[in-house]
Amino acid sequence: MPTTNDQRPTTRIGYGFDSHEFRNGIPLKIGGVSLEHDKGLGGHSDGDVLLHAITDALLGAVAAPDIGALFPPSDPKWKGADSVLFLREALKRVRDAGYTVGNIDASLILAAPKIGPHAATIRMCVAQLLDVHANCVGLKAKTPEGLNLENAAIAHVVVLLEKLATPKRAQKKKARKKK
Ligand SMILES: [Zn+2]
Repeated sequence: MPTTNDQRPTTRIGYGFDSHEFRNGIPLKIGGVSLEHDKGLGGHSDGDVLLHAITDALLGAVAAPDIGALFPPSDPKWKGADSVLFLREALKRVRDAGYTVGNIDASLILAAPKIGPHAATIRMCVAQLLDVHANCVGLKAKTPEGLNLENAAIAHVVVLLEKLATPKRAQKKKARKKK
């Protein structure tokens, strides 16, 4: 039963943006999926531009510090790190705040490789990571027409969170009382 002092809104929206530059001879990972390509995304961690934008959208939705504040690129600890770690931390913060993921919608902007043939796999992987059904993960891929950004990958993500009937902390308390 919801308590009378539950001030949490029923839903919360989050938005995330990220971009990375392609570099020769490094592996390419998008949405937790390794893709065959002669270039990968350089920079922070494994360069997974989609997981980074999702992570920031989740963190933003609960007004938590952003990915750069939680996992500073300047910290050698995160060099080459699996971006799934960042996503898990964001998800934990979402649940601790008493929310669950309703759905997400993402736009990827990159010249190559073609995302179409991999879209279903990426959606499935992201859905699994977020613990939602694949039909709750929207993914559109676009080429950077007229943007002169042939060597970059960009991701925009919006996420909708839904309030859990009982916040996770209260659930834990209840469980403790029962013992
Ligand atoms: Zn990034």
